[in-house]
Amino acid sequence: MLKLKFDTKVVRASSKPDPTTGSIIPPLHQTATYVLEEVGRDKGFDYTRASNPTRALLEDHLAQIEGANYGICFSSGMSAVDACLKLLKKGDHVICSDDVYGGVSRHFNQILVNYGLEFTYVNSSNPDEVASSIKKNTKLLWVETPTNPLLKITDLKAMNKIAKENNILYGVDSTFSTPVFLRPLDFGADIVMHSTTKYLSGHNQIIGGAVLTNNQEIFDKLKFVQKTIGAVPSPFDCWLTMLGLRTLHLRMKKHAENAQAVAEYLESHPKVSRVSYPGLKSNPGFKIASEQMRGFSGMISFELSGGIPAGKHVMNNVKLCFLAESLGAVETMITHPATMTHAEVPEAERHARGLTDGLVRLSIGIEDKEDIISDLEQALKKA
Ligand code: PLP
Repeated sequence: MLKLKFDTKVVRASSKPDPTTGSIIPPLHQTATYVLEEVGRDKGFDYTRASNPTRALLEDHLAQIEGANYGICFSSGMSAVDACLKLLKKGDHVICSDDVYGGVSRHFNQILVNYGLEFTYVNSSNPDEVASSIKKNTKLLWVETPTNPLLKITDLKAMNKIAKENNILYGVDSTFSTPVFLRPLDFGADIVMHSTTKYLSGHNQIIGGAVLTNNQEIFDKLKFVQKTIGAVPSPFDCWLTMLGLRTLHLRMKKHAENAQAVAEYLESHPKVSRVSYPGLKSNPGFKIASEQMRGFSGMISFELSGGIPAGKHVMNNVKLCFLAESLGAVETMITHPATMTHAEVPEAERHARGLTDGLVRLSIGIEDKEDIISDLEQALKKA
């Protein structure tokens, strides 16, 4: 068996021509159930909530590129996060990065607290803050890097040390990084989670999530959650994700190249007061990001000196960039976190986090970078 390099795995990990027809694209098993040969004898599949050949192929593909032994797919990034939290019990305490995606903190603060879980949000860019938040009942350290939307960087080695010293489960939401740029399992994480809605599928075509791990006990528990709760992606969504995934390495290089150029352009623009992009030398996370990542990915956030009205002007006047929720697709998208992705984070908490009402988030696509910059230029002119 050939030992394949990363790029080859991205393209070929789920590329198994159909033995009956030779179809180069794996068949789509859009089925709810499977006919048994006789009582007690199936062909490895009995009901699609429990397992499905198309989903199994995607799970294996994702595991291979993340460098994991096991992959488990869910119907959304949120249901993947939820499944990880179901590894805990009433009374357990979770330490979480303070700048996580708003849907994650909404789930923790408005749903899971009602089931006896306790949450502390810390600036995980500062390992001392994380260490000093550990309590006797702390069972999970949950970090996002870079964070959504401020692009804060967390030192994964430092987190691993804290987690291992305190015997805490350690999970990383790596949605913004993708396995092209970061492999948290190499830094000791027990769990890697992705919203596959974003870069992994890459074309705004599905909602999905995945969890990857090397730990069989965690895998068995998550598999049990998956089949019991049933938040599974449809076979068609798995199939579409698999096709999108095949170009991940190329897309990510272009996302990062374009984002670097746009971030540098914005940083030099007189109307822009602050730019967050881990690839800028001025960024506080630049050093750690350069050490642990192979690239800085495609997300930028920035603020204009004209504050909220200026930010709104730009978002309402772009012509090429789409004003839309979500990120990580081939099209450049512009978002207003305060009223869109993070609208349900209470205002005081948003402001305390540095997530101001004037913040604009860009998910840089793979178009020509000069066109993206020209679009921003014309929108910034009158701001
Ligand atoms: N994690 C991060 C970092 C996200 O940005 C998102 C969505 O934006 C999610 C998780 C949730 O994923 P989904 O929208 O697929 O449920």
